Amino acid sequence: MRIVGLTGGIGSGKSTVSNLFKARGIPVVDADVVSRDVLKKGTGGWRKVVAAFGEDILLDNGEVDRPKLGQIVFSDPGKRQLLNRLLAPYISSGIFCEVLKLWMKGCTVIVLDVPLLFEAKIDKWTKPIIVVWVDPETQLRRLMARDRTSEEEAKNRINAQMPLDSKRSKADIVIDNTGSLEDLDESFQKVLAQITKPLTWREFGLS
Ligand code: ATP
Repeated sequence: MRIVGLTGGIGSGKSTVSNLFKARGIPVVDADVVSRDVLKKGTGGWRKVVAAFGEDILLDNGEVDRPKLGQIVFSDPGKRQLLNRLLAPYISSGIFCEVLKLWMKGCTVIVLDVPLLFEAKIDKWTKPIIVVWVDPETQLRRLMARDRTSEEEAKNRINAQMPLDSKRSKADIVIDNTGSLEDLDESFQKVLAQITKPLTWREFGLS
């Protein structure tokens, strides 16, 4: 089984590429979905987060008020690190469970869509690693348009992440998403052919 890592920067086009994989019948494990699941009321992740951040971050129904928690950690890097540290083991095991389920179904290629692939050290499980890259102006423009945010807010969110160029330098495959959706589709076809071709004996470790 091949576990392909898919990552990039905020608004660089990961979800767009992830949808192209899904449209081709390639299963995608979405770390954002897993991270929502590990914060559900009563789970281990929920208990840790409530213990660390207090009951003020809960809604009346006991679920975590995600936008409120987001605001708290966004404006405080120490708290952001704390939240990441608390949830990382739950997110990793959640992703691992999803991979296991797909493996048991006989899937041969699985894509892990993980925004923090390198930061959470999940890159160790994946080969090849695809980074969806976009030039800084296009990234800013698309992010502002998608989330209807100000330039300042969008810049702050971009700057809170590992620089996209550092991610690009760690990639096995870079998809440049600066162009149109048609350009992206063309690059995607090439990547798809590359990752679905049978492994050589060397890649299989038997040369
Ligand atoms: P996040 O990390 O915030 O979830 P993302 O990396 O998943 O972001 P997307 O949501 O896929 O990024 O893309 C950001 C925005 O840019 C979306 O509105 C998407 O429709 C748009 N977009 C993506 N690729 C292109 C493209 N090639 N041309 C035009 N718009 C694009």
